[in-house]
Amino acid sequence: MPKKSVASALHLEASVRLSSRGVARLQARHPWVYRSDITEEKDVPPGAVVRVHDSRGKFLGTALYSSSSQIAIRMISHGSVADLPALVAERIRAAIAYRKELVRNTDAYRIVFSEADFLPGLIVDRYNDVLTLQILTQAMDAAPVREAVPQTLRSEEDMQPAGIVERVEARIREMEQLPPRPSGLLWGEKSSTVIGMNGVRFHYDGLEGQKTGAFLDQRENYAAAAEYAHGEALDAFCYQGGFALHLAAKCASVTGVDSSRPALEMAEKNAALNGRELEWIEGNAFDLLREYAAANRRYDTIVLDPPAFAKTKRDLEKALGGYKELNLRALKMLRPGGILVTCCCSFHVGATDFLGVVADAARDAHKSLRLLENRGAAKGHPILLNVPETSYLKCLILSVSD
Ligand code: SAH
Repeated sequence: MPKKSVASALHLEASVRLSSRGVARLQARHPWVYRSDITEEKDVPPGAVVRVHDSRGKFLGTALYSSSSQIAIRMISHGSVADLPALVAERIRAAIAYRKELVRNTDAYRIVFSEADFLPGLIVDRYNDVLTLQILTQAMDAAPVREAVPQTLRSEEDMQPAGIVERVEARIREMEQLPPRPSGLLWGEKSSTVIGMNGVRFHYDGLEGQKTGAFLDQRENYAAAAEYAHGEALDAFCYQGGFALHLAAKCASVTGVDSSRPALEMAEKNAALNGRELEWIEGNAFDLLREYAAANRRYDTIVLDPPAFAKTKRDLEKALGGYKELNLRALKMLRPGGILVTCCCSFHVGATDFLGVVADAARDAHKSLRLLENRGAAKGHPILLNVPETSYLKCLILSVSD
């Protein structure tokens, strides 16, 4: 048998043992084990590939280790892993193949969604010929993995990128105790482009904007909302016009509201790109809805897609109050037969909680609601059934009666 190199021998030796609670989590097919459930660790540097054992030493699989996160390990395989970059490359190719049959009517969608694609700590999005990636953990930040990801994406026949951009969230690197680095082009020349979805076009700039730049998780919800939208429409947290521009094809008039001026400037450019005229208002949607309701303004279609109100479990009660308030105000302004499209992207607010809040708002507004569609994120964002964290977006489409 050939002798192992020192590096790979060390690598293979890194190992942890888990408490019975940690083992139970893995048996339930959740990939995360918290630090408090690691009972023993041996030769484990930050970002290591570790062999995972139960308390008696039985081998359970291989995980990626973080020295700083409370989530100490994220499982990557139920077997041994000799070559992490090769495994990452294989999983990326599988994620691309998974979407090939599922994702339609667009050149912009998530290609790799971290745990949901068995690549914990890695996110890759496609925006036509610009690909973006985000690295969220120590293990995915290791140089050989960093090299393998763009290389794999470039070699995929279906991708043909003209640029690959890394988007960095400083707070995440800090939490993972990784050295700071700027966002920027990793490969190629191109960082901005034009994308299409459901026949609507949008400018995309990989080095600007929120999240990874556009809300790809709402793509199918835009199309669904447009199926029912009519009359006068209001998109209360419109960002760069995702819902608003889809509604424009069906509605007599559309007003988009957002507190971010740069987002509205891009929304205006997107409207021009599609030959549409919409009204954009810079302001606080809470205040504006209150004013409009007091002034007896009425709409036929209202979209509510606010930012996450509950960032942690502790914010839950307050967040539920915020969602109720917003929905109540919108319901008061909707004409009979009107359509409410209401979204919630807080993971901590469960699907049942959210339905409950909207039902409460309907009661207080003295309206009846019929649920037309109970939706989630677009298919580029798969939900892994035993990993609740992969399911966060709720989008309800409701028909309003007095
Ligand atoms: N519907 C959009 C995404 C909305 S993200 C799309 O599909 O593209 C949430 C948006 O709410 C952001 O653009 C943010 O600027 C805006 N926002 C946050 N707080 C706000 C407030 N109080 N009033 C209006 N807009 C707000």
